[in-house]
Amino acid sequence: MTQIDIPIIPVQNPRDLPGGAVEIAPLGTERRRELIERIKNLLREKDAVLVAHYYTDADIQKIADETGGMVADSLEMARFGNRHPATTLVVAGVRFMGETAKILNPEKRVLMPTLEAECSLDLGCPADQFVPFCDAHPDRTVVVYANTSAAVKARADWVVTSSIAVRVVSHLLDQGESILWAPDKYLGSYVQQVTGADMLLWQGSCVVHETFKAKELAALKALHADAAILVHPESPQSVIDMADVVGSTTQLIQAAHDLPNSTFIVATDNGIFYKMKQSAPHKTFLEAPTAGAGATCHSCAHCPWMEMNALENLAAALESGDNEIHVDEAIRRKALRSTQRMIDFSQGLDTRRFYARVEA
Ligand code: SF4
Repeated sequence: MTQIDIPIIPVQNPRDLPGGAVEIAPLGTERRRELIERIKNLLREKDAVLVAHYYTDADIQKIADETGGMVADSLEMARFGNRHPATTLVVAGVRFMGETAKILNPEKRVLMPTLEAECSLDLGCPADQFVPFCDAHPDRTVVVYANTSAAVKARADWVVTSSIAVRVVSHLLDQGESILWAPDKYLGSYVQQVTGADMLLWQGSCVVHETFKAKELAALKALHADAAILVHPESPQSVIDMADVVGSTTQLIQAAHDLPNSTFIVATDNGIFYKMKQSAPHKTFLEAPTAGAGATCHSCAHCPWMEMNALENLAAALESGDNEIHVDEAIRRKALRSTQRMIDFSQGLDTRRFYARVEA
């Protein structure tokens, strides 16, 4: 058997850096109310619409809901920004989401509350190492997760999100294609297991999801025997193995609504609880454990980059027009091919119920 060298790129959680993550000081009630009003006014004045990810602050999600914007996963964020007529898209999330919006909407201005909000999957798959790796495997179709830079998308044949990854890979398998998958090794391995496709996996991971722990999850489940376990497939296999439902963020919210259980243990970023509680207000949601007994909590089930999005920097970006996303035009054109394929593939699909139920 041929030995394949897959680059391993270390990525540091900003909470581990000297000084830790960017601390967002809690706001007083008056200041918070004033900022929310200011953001709503600015959105109107600037012909802007707010598109927020489920993992962002609840206040930001609420503003998006109340101003005709959208709170969604990466796929829906891209689809919504693409069809909304506003001339400015304000993307609250992490950098690749802003870049995806720009790839699809070059004529629109795309702003973000901060340009420092990264993603460990994106950082762990730099184009200068990924491109030669792809070139070394020309017989494979390159499928990359949306959590990648524009330059990586430019080298890919397909972009996917977790809501349609299984469908896209099954489709490619039907055509006899073998896959080079990047960057998330856990999601890749899950898709490989479900589809049976021949997949060569890049070795990236999400700093939030990879810290969910199976042993502690079993202990929590023992205390809540009737709870259903909802797991995002960026989690380790041992955690996925314990799931009642595996799916993307939108699919997990849908499952919390659909399933008869009154309690759920949720293995994904806890920012999702805002929408889960909205969709199933009488149900109870518990965070899946992220650390063993006595261990330091590095992720605490919340993305260190998503939490950099705050009311103050959102208002400041709208006011100043700073933090605009720019993508080199040659890269954008190439990245559009693989990204548009995802949009076209998902056209007409109601992906919310594409979650996998694991029957006991
Ligand atoms: S939660 Fe994980 S995958 Fe999502 S943006 Fe943060 S680091 Fe990236």
